[in-house]
Amino acid sequence: MANRYFVETPIVGDRATLTTAEAHHLAHVMRAKPGVEVVLFDGSGCEFAARVDKVGRSEIELTVLERKIVDRELAVELTLATALPKGDRQRWLIEKAVELGVRHFVPLETERGVAQPSGGALDRLRRSVIEASKQCGRNRLMQVSEPTDLSNLLPQVESADNAAVLRWFAHPGGGPLSVATQALAKTPAAVLIAVGPEGGFSDAEVQHARDRDWQLVGLGRRILRVETAALMLAACSSPAPKERTITLT
Ligand code: SAH
Repeated sequence: MANRYFVETPIVGDRATLTTAEAHHLAHVMRAKPGVEVVLFDGSGCEFAARVDKVGRSEIELTVLERKIVDRELAVELTLATALPKGDRQRWLIEKAVELGVRHFVPLETERGVAQPSGGALDRLRRSVIEASKQCGRNRLMQVSEPTDLSNLLPQVESADNAAVLRWFAHPGGGPLSVATQALAKTPAAVLIAVGPEGGFSDAEVQHARDRDWQLVGLGRRILRVETAALMLAACSSPAPKERTITLT
């Protein structure tokens, strides 16, 4: 999926402009010249074939040649709420979550968690979402929310039909994953996954989850890193649907 570029503003007509990091990538890393054809996406679910017209100092102007709806999303709406690991492992987790089709990513505030990202740090995570989407071909961006604790998580993500939301709370000693995934056969509308910090969820947080009917899920006899547990659950939560393409112009 090389040669894909993200356009910040929705593409509506037959013109598009690349700015900031995307313009820099195409102009200075790829050394694009007028006439070169690339693929654009704007997060709307569409993909655009486009031709470079003008390479400016900080902007690139293009003509849109073709517009297609290319759906590479999962069949279920997958929300991953996880205490963030430290340093570079955050970016790695975001990248893999995008690749696996996570729709919403929520930095989970927990009693034993590390400092939460804010402002610039959240922006950097969102930039990682774009980078991963360019690479893996996703045409909708994974949303990265503001940090949220367990009690505020449910109201944020629960759909009108609560019964259709599977809620998995990763906790050593929880029920087998194979049992949790059996419910996927009924095609749930959404799956919500909570993963704790390196210090684990506190007793109060585990009790909170039990009281609200989260399904406690165990992932085997070994203790996994936050990102391993998160990605294991994300990967098990939805069978991969077929890619669908509709050409519009
Ligand atoms: N120190 C904690 C483990 C923390 S691991 C303890 O010993 O309990 C970080 C998080 O990853 C956990 O809070 C849990 O959500 C998830 N996790 C790690 N290993 C797991 C396992 N074997 N089963 C279920 N969840 C696990």
